[in-house]
Amino acid sequence: MATIDGLPPLREVIRAHDLVAKKQLGQNFLLDLNLTAKIARQAGDLSGCDVLEVGPGPGGLTRGLLAEGARRVLAVEKDARCLPALAEIQAAYPGKLDVINGDALEVDVLAHLTPPIRVVANLPYNVGTELLIRWLTPANWPPFWESLTLMFQKEVAERIVAKPKGDHYGRLALLAQWRCEAKIVLHLPPEAFTPAPKVHSAVVHLTRLPGPRFPADEKILSRITAMAFNQRRKMLRSSLKGLGPDIEARLEAAGIAPTARAEEISLEGFCALAREMAK
Ligand code: SAM
Repeated sequence: MATIDGLPPLREVIRAHDLVAKKQLGQNFLLDLNLTAKIARQAGDLSGCDVLEVGPGPGGLTRGLLAEGARRVLAVEKDARCLPALAEIQAAYPGKLDVINGDALEVDVLAHLTPPIRVVANLPYNVGTELLIRWLTPANWPPFWESLTLMFQKEVAERIVAKPKGDHYGRLALLAQWRCEAKIVLHLPPEAFTPAPKVHSAVVHLTRLPGPRFPADEKILSRITAMAFNQRRKMLRSSLKGLGPDIEARLEAAGIAPTARAEEISLEGFCALAREMAK
């Protein structure tokens, strides 16, 4: 059967290289190349960009990224069993794909990338969240990437884009939305993956803003939101009392009712409180 890039269908690739999915590596593969091309399109115009792909596996999404015209893809894969399949893609797209066999939490990718850079990944849930937090909290802003297009389990995706008053609203939403535009661009049922996971998934697209949406000191904002959401059902005058005896006055000065709860406060409100605490 012909594919978009003339390479064998992914089922054949997996069979040929005996890529039996390993649970401990979170291996749930995407085998539909139309779907992987669709995910690649959510990342925006790739033609002038280097793409960092984390966890390419047998290369379904990698092929989608290359078919959609990525200038270059740097793929970081922990499982060495995937390297022969990725080498076939390298041969079909000469000079366009570099592969590093390593752990994305440890590899220094920056030396291998030229801006502008977009990040695209279908990663195990725990690794994805850890990398997202790292990518959102670089030493300096702007970060090395223009956008992040990442697959998460649906519940995590909802936490990233959540607005106040919902169950999913918390630190991850505030962190993501403070300096990024974040939206869910695609929902995927378990059957989209082989093997099918137990949960639904969603692709989140984050575009970096030039700076913070509202001014605030990052460390103070992080401390306040950690305290507030660690006791999310408590009134703020109680959950934040460790910030000092005048916390009620500070909350009021920031325009926040001391009896309000963390999940009711907008990003703008938390930033106002962080500025008040910095005085
Ligand atoms: N991108 C492929 C796809 O969409 O079909 C594979 C996705 S699968 C959910 C996750 C991939 O990430 C696997 O290939 C796995 O080996 C790889 N992986 C898991 N942990 C990793 C890590 N710490 N660093 C790099 N790759 C990792």
